Amino acid sequence: MNNPYGIHIWSENNFIIKDNRVNINYANQPSLLEITQSIRKRGHKGPLLLRFPHLIKKQIDRLYFEFNRAKNEFEYQGNFQAVFPLKVNQFPNFVNSIVEVSREYNYGLEAGSKAELIIAITHTPMGSPITVNGFKDKEMITLCFIASYMGHNITITIEGIGELETIIEVNREFNSGIQNPITPKIGIRIRLHSSGVGIWAKSGGYSSKFGLTSTEILEAYQLLQEHNLLDKLWMVHFHIGSQMGEIAPLKKALREAGNIYAELKKRGADTLNAINIGGGLAVEYAQYKSTKELNYSLKEFANDVVFVIKEIAKSKSIKEPDIFTESGRFIASSHAVLIAPVLELFSQEYHEKSLRLKETNPPLIEELHDLWKAINRSNAREYLHDSLDHLESLLTLFDLGYINLEDRSNTEILVNLIIKKSILLLKNEDTNELQKLQDRIQEKYLVNFSAFQSLPDFWGLGQKFPVMPIDKLNTKPTNPATIWDITCDSDGEIGFDRDTPLYLHDIDIEQEEYFLAFFLTGAYQEVLGMKHNLFTHPTEIVVNFDENGDYSLDNLIEAQNLMDVLEDMDYNRNLVDKKLKYLIEESNLLNHKQKENILGKLYLYLSENSYLKTIQANREDL
Ligand SMILES: *Cc1c(COP(=O)(O)O)cnc(C)c1O
Repeated sequence: MNNPYGIHIWSENNFIIKDNRVNINYANQPSLLEITQSIRKRGHKGPLLLRFPHLIKKQIDRLYFEFNRAKNEFEYQGNFQAVFPLKVNQFPNFVNSIVEVSREYNYGLEAGSKAELIIAITHTPMGSPITVNGFKDKEMITLCFIASYMGHNITITIEGIGELETIIEVNREFNSGIQNPITPKIGIRIRLHSSGVGIWAKSGGYSSKFGLTSTEILEAYQLLQEHNLLDKLWMVHFHIGSQMGEIAPLKKALREAGNIYAELKKRGADTLNAINIGGGLAVEYAQYKSTKELNYSLKEFANDVVFVIKEIAKSKSIKEPDIFTESGRFIASSHAVLIAPVLELFSQEYHEKSLRLKETNPPLIEELHDLWKAINRSNAREYLHDSLDHLESLLTLFDLGYINLEDRSNTEILVNLIIKKSILLLKNEDTNELQKLQDRIQEKYLVNFSAFQSLPDFWGLGQKFPVMPIDKLNTKPTNPATIWDITCDSDGEIGFDRDTPLYLHDIDIEQEEYFLAFFLTGAYQEVLGMKHNLFTHPTEIVVNFDENGDYSLDNLIEAQNLMDVLEDMDYNRNLVDKKLKYLIEESNLLNHKQKENILGKLYLYLSENSYLKTIQANREDL
């Protein structure tokens, strides 16, 4: 396997295979297994979310590098600037990392709600841009004014005329009687004629929730003029949707936005100086070439943006504007990896060791046994067909009462063993029949995580995330795999898909550990994650590297314990606590000593998180 699990398609060289393991392709290249085990040794079990700030930095570096390169290449005069849209990831370990690694750039934050705005105000370095999008009330606009009095470089993007009227009102109230009044900069979000892309297409186009139509833009211009705020207008903004797979819609939107910008300039919007192209830069999640999601490179993206805007500026004889981006997914996805322990394989019953052959077995079963022992490459297809025939016959014999439950169990095991073996033997003849059989012998891997909590876009949108084992990459995985999460919901299943098949190793979980890693989970998944069954955000940890290339594990945040979860749901913690104690103390089924013991155990459990510890009787450490 020179491209196991499609690692060359999705990993951007961030992860490599070394010594049969997935290693981080940075600094001393530690393996994910080594990191996972050292966290687990400290007593943190269950799923782990690893954050890699160096991967956030890499994306920011790439973004600035490509835009600056394109600017030089086309001799573009405007500046390039970027902000991170907080809705993509507001978790403190992420936000603190992104601010830290972007210090050399004038990189800022974008807020779409009051709570996000507070994060932006308290975390954006002074002078770096803050942009504020989304629907805003008077309080939110007032917060923007407060931020600008703190010295922040803040831009309010107006999404509708109503918001502009509120800005005018706040400006009058807030600034009345102040000697040197300060007003935030103003941007206008435009409602594009061209529609957006992908599953998020609704972000653009005439029916979009956001933006001003051309009539409203003219109205806004007039209002700004009437209230002496025209000199605050400095940005034109649009956003065509997330995960855009192709670049053509962006170019179309750029031409539309560029011409609106130029028209406003011509009218007299002299301080207007920036075009904000929103987000949408896509990430490759595919593990197979046939399902690749994007058809352009970052270089092409930067070239197109710079070139199209330059052309418009030239043809309309205006100064080349600053270019802003608000890419979120592109910046954040790769930094987070979810490591989830496999708890159990649900096909143990099909192992040889489960056979209960008798002294004398029904002839058809004897024959199945012989087929299984004798199967080889040249007879595989024939033996396979024979065994499927025998299966039908034996199941009929069972229904008619001629063979017993043990015979039936032996039949199922033997036929499954034969199917498995023949698939291996015939793997070069990719026939439809074999593929259908594969579906039938999939192994179910019960994995200690919640798809609802950690991969909500898989549940909601069918978005696939790269997944692979982090160890054993020297052995060929032979089990067609279905992944089951630990929620009691049948949607928490990543089914085996013949178009993008996932094969995992045949392991004996009683003997060895086996971990799956889900990659590219750093954008949107964490905050969209839901607490279905009350499984909460997994334990997270930041992996930093020092000058020697060694890693440190920092800022560990443990998944919430049971009592915290209940308190979060607004249960009264004290009442729950009292009730538990009362139920034990009042029980007349227990003596005093037993009660003490049970209370001790109970309090230990209450201090731990909801994820499973182990389901194997003889294993304590999952
Ligand atoms: C969501 C959003 C973004 C980020 O989009 P990505 O696809 O994550 O890059 C940028 N700008 C606005 C206005 C948004 O709503």
